[in-house]
Formats: sequence, structure tokens, C-alpha cells
Amino acid sequence: MANQDKSGRPAAIVTGAGSGIGQATTALLLERGWNVAAVDLQAGALAELEAGHSAERLLVRACDVTDEAQVAAVVGEAAAKFGRLDGAVNSAGMAADKHVFDTSAELFRKILDVNVIGTFLIGREAGRHMAKAGRGAIVNVASVSGLRGSKGRSAYGASKGAVINLTQVMANDLAPHGIRVNAVAPGPVETPMVKALHTSADRDLYNRYIPMRRYAEPREIASVIHFLLDESQSSFVTGEIVAVDGGYRGAGIIVDPA
Ligand code: NAD
Repeated sequence: MANQDKSGRPAAIVTGAGSGIGQATTALLLERGWNVAAVDLQAGALAELEAGHSAERLLVRACDVTDEAQVAAVVGEAAAKFGRLDGAVNSAGMAADKHVFDTSAELFRKILDVNVIGTFLIGREAGRHMAKAGRGAIVNVASVSGLRGSKGRSAYGASKGAVINLTQVMANDLAPHGIRVNAVAPGPVETPMVKALHTSADRDLYNRYIPMRRYAEPREIASVIHFLLDESQSSFVTGEIVAVDGGYRGAGIIVDPA
């Protein structure tokens, strides 16, 4: 089991845990023996997770990841409850598909605040706790939209591009403290975010450009996040961006020749 020693189970904090990728990651980590602090903007969104697991293994807290004081408090509480902090997963995020002419500065700032500042704050606070033990792993949820210029994603794509560079910088800053920092870059995943955002025309388009011709299930992202958190599997991986996208990033011409 990852990072486990005689003092107990490994522990992680997961943001955006009330839905989609964060929820699937929380469930998978619990299943694989981790203790988890599950954080989301709305505590109500965490009720489903809370109902299925013991309070000994799962801490559930409402927290706005853009609020510095709330982030420091919840990371501190998680480390104190479990007596350690081995992992942090930044899955809280928001998205918008809008033409650049229709993107207000207010929306752009909001997306940067949640996706970039929130990721930075959780990573910094978790990193401070991990540095005391001289070990830990942080996994950020970026996106293929941060690697390539998807149409209508000026704010979202820029925020995920920033998350990718933040991941690389933090990997550099935190390596001397024994902390690894990596990111996953998912393609489309069947989550409430995508259900709200993608029309059936969007779905047809994505499926045409993804060699595996389908969307991911949240658990398929969660298992790569677990790999990156787990010292026994990825001890020499840091500053890496792992696309989990059914082949989208690497694909050239994918239409079958006539
Ligand atoms: P989701 O909307 O299902 O879940 C996101 C969660 O983040 C929600 O529960 C929401 O309440 C929470 N959240 C939002 N703002 C918050 C804040 N300020 N503080 C705390 N929690 C907050 O979305 P998802 O599809 O699971 O996305 C998770 C992450 O994966 C996001 O960063 C998203 O950009 C990224 N991503 C998703 C896809 C996809 O296709 N679904 C693809 C690539 C990347």
C-alpha cells in the first residue's frame, strides 16, 4: 500500500471531491487503503461519499479553494486528524466554452481564481505539511485544453496551461523536500461538468478526434492519479503531465483511409 508505514494508512486531501473526477478519486483512494479529507465548495455535495464511509477514514469539509484562510485551516485539520499528509489532489475546477468575444474579464478572472489560485493554495499548504515529513505527492488535474488550443477556451485553456506550468515549477521547488508534483491532463470525461457543457454535436466532434472514440469514465482518471500519488509506483516521476485522453494528444490523421 502506498506510503504506508507502521504509523498508519497514507492520507490525502482531495478537492472537488463532491463530483466527477474528485469524487471518483476519493472513492478509489479509500478503496485502496488511504484515509481521505474530501473537500468541496458545498458540503452537501459530499453527503453521498460521507454516507458510505466511516468518519475514521474520511473527513468531509466545505471549503472554497480560492480562500487562503479556509485552505490553510482544512489542510491543517486533515494533517492533524490523520497524523500525516502524503497526498494532495487538486480536482476542484470550473469551465466555460465561450468565444473569445463573449468572454468577460470577470469570467476569465473567476476561472483563473478557482483553477489556478485554488490549485496553488492547496499545493502550497499541503506542501508545507509534507515538507515536515520530507515526503509527499501532489497531483493537479489539468486538461488537454491546457496543452492545445481548443476553440472557445480562452479562459479555461489559459487556466489549465497555467496549471501545467505551476506543476512544473512546484516540482522543481519541492523536489529538495522529497515532494513530487505531477498533473493529469484528461480529455473529455463523463462527469456532471461535461454533461452540462457538451452538446451532442460536441460529443460527435470529440469522438471523431479521439482515437479510442469515447469519453473517459471518472475512475479511469482516478487510477492514474492514484499511480502518481503512490510512492511505490511512481517514486521517480515528477514535473510530468500525463495525458489521459484516449490518444487525443498524440493523434495525427485518424480518419480511416478510403
Ligand atoms: P465537476 O464539475 O463534476 O466537479 C468539480 C467540483 O469542483 C464540483 O463538485 C465543484 O463544487 C467543485 N468546486 C468548484 N469550485 C470550487 C471551489 N472554489 N472550491 C472548492 N470546490 C470547488 O467537474 P469534473 O469534470 O469532475 O472536473 C474536475 C477537474 O477536472 C476540473 O479541474 C476540470 O477542469 C478537470 N477536467 C475535466 C474534464 C472533463 O471532461 N470532465 C476534462 C479535463 C479536465
